[in-house]
Amino acid sequence: MPDLDEEERRVRIANLLLRLRRVGITDQRVVSAIEAVPRDLFVEAESRDEAYAERALPIECGQTISAPVIVGMMTMALKPQADDRILEIGTGSGYQAAVLSKLCGRVYTIDRFRTLVAAAESRFKTLKLTNITTLVGDGTLGWPEHAPFEKIIVTAAGEEVPEALFGQLRIGGILVAPVGPQDGVQILKRYTRTETGFDETDLGQVRFVPLIPGVAERL
Ligand code: SAH
Repeated sequence: MPDLDEEERRVRIANLLLRLRRVGITDQRVVSAIEAVPRDLFVEAESRDEAYAERALPIECGQTISAPVIVGMMTMALKPQADDRILEIGTGSGYQAAVLSKLCGRVYTIDRFRTLVAAAESRFKTLKLTNITTLVGDGTLGWPEHAPFEKIIVTAAGEEVPEALFGQLRIGGILVAPVGPQDGVQILKRYTRTETGFDETDLGQVRFVPLIPGVAERL
């Protein structure tokens, strides 16, 4: 399927925004950021017709782009501010990073697959998103050279949040991550760093591909 034309894209995005509002994603800045990013450019040509549907879709390297409502929920949970520096673990298609880039100062995003990072980078270039910095690496280690971050988002599920990430979060900062096993219940969690520890909130049940330590050997 070829690229969507402008009119078709506008209709689909308008529908998507209605759906987001209906499930409580009402933060106007977040809604505007989602409106500004053409999701169809982040999926494979075969999935283009489904790009705005309410489900995760396959991308290269056996990974997935999260469903729109999940992206909206996670973005809202981070409470992104204009001067935040946000670390994302799991670049995937680059869609979540692109949405965040509209809302903060700079996004640092890491994926263990070189192929995915290269494809995401070319999308950022096409869309003239110049405040995203990418890395092929092991996101479980975070990105110490750029820490501490105001916000951290993990878009792959582990049994627990890697300790290094908590250490790279500024006091007052927010970390959002799915936590749980591949074959069981995963819960989306929000941690807020306080002077003395972390406040934790459950945001609901989710389903994510696994967080796998190390860089992918191929691809
Ligand atoms: N945020 C993405 C969806 C990501 S899917 C989007 O908007 O499209 C989860 C991604 O996490 C996959 O691309 C996977 O390769 C990556 N991943 C899993 N374990 C990782 C690790 N240890 N370090 C970096 N990336 C990891």
